[in-house]
Amino acid sequence: MNIHLLRDKDLSIDTYRNVLHLLQHVPGPLNFIESEVDIRNLDLIDHIWERKDDFEKQNRRVYSMMDASIVRPSYIFPKEVRRASWEQLFEECINYRNCFSHVSSEDVVVLLTDVPNNQNWFGSVDDSMRNFFIHTDDWKFYFGEAVDIRFPIAYEVIVWVLRGLMFKSRESILNNLHDQAIGCVQDFCLDKKEIILKMRTGDVCPACLDLIAKADINHSYLNQIFEIIEEIRMSLSFRQRIKLFKKPSRLLVKGPTKRLFLKDLGNLEINLNPSERALYLLFLNNPNGIRLPEIIDYRNELLEIYGMTTNLSDQADIINRIDRLTDVSENNVNEVLSRIRGKLKSAVGVELLDFYDIQGARGEAKKILLNRELLSYE
Ligand SMILES: [Zn+2]
Repeated sequence: MNIHLLRDKDLSIDTYRNVLHLLQHVPGPLNFIESEVDIRNLDLIDHIWERKDDFEKQNRRVYSMMDASIVRPSYIFPKEVRRASWEQLFEECINYRNCFSHVSSEDVVVLLTDVPNNQNWFGSVDDSMRNFFIHTDDWKFYFGEAVDIRFPIAYEVIVWVLRGLMFKSRESILNNLHDQAIGCVQDFCLDKKEIILKMRTGDVCPACLDLIAKADINHSYLNQIFEIIEEIRMSLSFRQRIKLFKKPSRLLVKGPTKRLFLKDLGNLEINLNPSERALYLLFLNNPNGIRLPEIIDYRNELLEIYGMTTNLSDQADIINRIDRLTDVSENNVNEVLSRIRGKLKSAVGVELLDFYDIQGARGEAKKILLNRELLSYE
């Protein structure tokens, strides 16, 4: 089954790619396909949130009052937002289907958007049970830096896909949601912060297991869905213990082009381009470090690595790139190092950056501190 994951252009490309990789990482028949739409021209509706309590709740048939728990008050209320109706968001999925003939009517289309919706839901599905949207913004408001936002986003995607398979209509999804959070995929999370509970348990309650069994869903779909949920659960707890243990994730160098994956962080890929990756691998290979003025001494080693990481076939091109990289007067190497640092930081966060970063005082050897026992090749 194809699942087209549409990135609304307002959603950061890095967040989008990370969510996509997390979903794609578990092999199986659910095939997540990268795509992009631009919904900036939507005619949005102005809305003012008068109270923080209301903003933190998903709108259901009735509002119920709950104790306001403590969150970072990073938004000021009243807060003005511009939001879309559910219909407008589903319309984007339908337009996408109409524009691209390769999207079959059996395919699932999921729009990932920063645009809030008029019911303040994390996500929803239309009557066809094939078009979904997931709201990708505001996670930092709920969790601060404590949660890597790709986890709740990927979790919502997979849970909505599961609901689409479990139920025949949106109505029956709503009728079978749990009002009280019990740590099941079908928790409604009226209080949006409760989503953390279901991600942490990664569980399905007996009643919902029955519903799944009755829905007669292809077992290989279910396997893949629950493996993804489990992956999110494990990565989330690993990530949450980082502050406590300062324990870095294992790093895997994989395949002929030597891509880099953080094994304990849901196999998050560190998205380095071929020359960044070649430079990073050079430093991984040299645990004692390299002084930048002496990088020219490593030209041959770098050439050999770059020959693997790049798909350039023209030898002159390859040599030209490496000559630039090893010419310290050009400053190219510093630019590449700084790009690598930015990407590492967004992958592992500030707490773990020091383990992976290529660092060293000016004039001293630069090195990667990561214990090489955590490094493997595949
Ligand atoms: Zn349940």
